Amino acid sequence: MSRSLQCSSRRGAGSTLGLTVVVLSLVLVLPACDLIRFGGSNLSKQQKDHIRQKVTAATCSDANRLAEAEKLFDSKGLQPELEEYSEAVNVVSKLKGKTSETIVVGAHYDKTTLGCGAIDNWTGVVMLTMLAEELKASSTQKTYLFVAFGGEERDLKGSRAMAYGMVKREEDRPCAMVNLDSFGFEKAWALKSISDDSLLKLASDVERKRGGSFSIRNYRGASSDSKSFQLIGVPSITFSGLGDDWRDYLHQDSDIPENVDFESVFDNYEFLREFLRNLDESSCESLK
Ligand SMILES: [Zn+2]
Repeated sequence: MSRSLQCSSRRGAGSTLGLTVVVLSLVLVLPACDLIRFGGSNLSKQQKDHIRQKVTAATCSDANRLAEAEKLFDSKGLQPELEEYSEAVNVVSKLKGKTSETIVVGAHYDKTTLGCGAIDNWTGVVMLTMLAEELKASSTQKTYLFVAFGGEERDLKGSRAMAYGMVKREEDRPCAMVNLDSFGFEKAWALKSISDDSLLKLASDVERKRGGSFSIRNYRGASSDSKSFQLIGVPSITFSGLGDDWRDYLHQDSDIPENVDFESVFDNYEFLREFLRNLDESSCESLK
């Protein structure tokens, strides 16, 4: 390209035109590539704007994350309650369904020191509260606990404390746990090491119905809050939308909203909504 710049003005004019055409076509093609990669999203403009605005507003100070998470729940009319444990505080909203069979849907709100935790995991918290609002507007079979976990970056403190509490009271044991952690690059995939086969199969079926194929991955050393529920025998899954270059962003200064590909997040949201709808109709027995 620069080559064209070296040519004389006459040709320069020509090559400038060439360059303009190339740039213009790139400007046109790039979003189209995203659209091809992620499919035209059925999200409303309002929903897209909300995701973009809230992820962009992610607070970079870990000290403010709890208050900001609570505000997000409040803004969606979810009447959150704080569950305070010795080493972490969780934000919890309960949605009663036709049955008492319970699904925990979670996303951690805390972050490590570097960066703004936009990818890890404000994308997850924003989508969690939107999913809760949408399910609240529809009548569900199952009862839901929507939870923004604290202390995930400190060895899963918030989710361990909650799961441990559920062991003591059998009637509180959930039927399944769905965890959202870090989005902004790719179509949703699941982390195999902390996900159970029944939910992996359901995810594959849902993505097949959407015309795609679902990806299951393993990254050594990667973990998240579904592990705490797996440890008490609850069928669980962790979804993510990171790319293979995740080490360049997680817990780094580069974990900022500018590095989030929102088209991928819109697609992830649609997939997660469809997944929860299918899970709501699944029998707890079939998930064991
Ligand atoms: Zn995370």
